[in-house]
Amino acid sequence: MTAACDYNALSDEAFRREVRAFFEREYPPHLRYILRRARWSEMKDWWRKLYTKGWIAPNWPREWGGMALDAGKMVIYLEEMERYGVARPPDQGVTQVGPLLMRFGTEAQKNHYLPRTLSGEYIWCQGYSEPNAGSDLASLQTSAVLEGDDFVVNGQKTWTSFADEATHIYLLARTDRQAEKQAGISFLLVDLKTPGITVRPIRNLAGHAEFCEVFFDSVRVPRENLVGGLNEGWTVAKALLSFERLNIGSPRRPQYALNRLELLARAKGLFDDPAFVDRFAALKLDLEDLAALYGRFVGKVKRGEPLGPDVSMLKIWAMETWQRLSGLLLETGAEEGAIAGVHDIGGVEADFLSPFYYSLPATIYGGSSEIQRNILAKTVLHLPG
Ligand SMILES: Cc1cc2nc3c(=O)[nH]c(=O)nc-3n(C[C@H](O)[C@H](O)[C@H](O)COP(=O)(O)OP(=O)(O)OC[C@H]3O[C@@H](n4cnc5c(N)ncnc54)[C@H](O)[C@@H]3O)c2cc1C
Repeated sequence: MTAACDYNALSDEAFRREVRAFFEREYPPHLRYILRRARWSEMKDWWRKLYTKGWIAPNWPREWGGMALDAGKMVIYLEEMERYGVARPPDQGVTQVGPLLMRFGTEAQKNHYLPRTLSGEYIWCQGYSEPNAGSDLASLQTSAVLEGDDFVVNGQKTWTSFADEATHIYLLARTDRQAEKQAGISFLLVDLKTPGITVRPIRNLAGHAEFCEVFFDSVRVPRENLVGGLNEGWTVAKALLSFERLNIGSPRRPQYALNRLELLARAKGLFDDPAFVDRFAALKLDLEDLAALYGRFVGKVKRGEPLGPDVSMLKIWAMETWQRLSGLLLETGAEEGAIAGVHDIGGVEADFLSPFYYSLPATIYGGSSEIQRNILAKTVLHLPG
């Protein structure tokens, strides 16, 4: 890894130039703008390049090998990723586990896990959801019972993204059955090679095995793998949610769908059809609204202000706009739109089906649209519940 440099001392323009040049020079062209979530197996060489450059963890402090970017530079870094179509690798270790350990972890946990997470030796997946605990996560039933120096974990997680390629899982488990729902939950780090764990991939609609079920049968997890206090897992898990909502609220993906739609509509002469123009214009304006809203929240982050519950509005608008655009793209692709893979329609080469498949679950993960609306109703609009 190269020695850390103070990127915040650079002007925004100089920093942007440096990031842009690196991405353009080093990012594998065949992985630009991929229309699904990237797997570790295809991203590991890119991870290695970023790690070697000291750029794998833009949000981590320099003492732990991060770039320590301030909010403004962080936004530039993300904007350049989006501009060049750089995919996010399975980076939950960097975006979730690292920041949580820095805040709640012991010195021993930080010293063990942070360097290995950074180098890509440890690849993390998130074990929160269960068959009967998704939106109502606090009703999770996976249990962790202390026996001597170990927790004994039993239960099942589901929709665990890329667990089949991960080496470790961070999970929420019930450690006190008598306590109120949220109060009896703890946060554990678990090596997926521990005996008693079975990982079973689930194939999605597009045919990709992008998430898994994970079963725990009397799995012994050392007590030292508890993060935060016993029964304080809820506080640990909640700490990063609003930043994640900003991240998925970016207009990048709907913008990509709109660009494809515009090219395709031109090739098919659809801008002569007033009904199509009407729908296209409405969606383009929705996207403009999204970009403005995103800019407002990014501005808050840049100024170092905390994000409030109103960021739920961004998640709803980004994901629903993306779905509407992907739907129209699919419809406009007509026969070819219904067949997976890249097609050439009137000189426009694109995969018209993938954005649709990829946008469908977006109103479910990261907190469903209904749940976001509940949050807005309760905590922002103070509507009677
Ligand atoms: C692509 C993808 C990747 C995922 N990756 C992970 C992962 O890596 N790790 C992980 O732990 N989980 C992951 N999840 C799971 C995700 O967090 C859950 O799907 C989500 O929390 C919703 O839970 P659920 O699927 O159990 O649906 P449910 O909670 O059962 O909801 C079903 C429907 O009911 C609605 N609903 C539920 N409660 C209310 C309410 N109170 N008011 C109004 N409507 C309500 C919901 O909005 C939804 O439409 C992933 C999901 C997807 C789709």
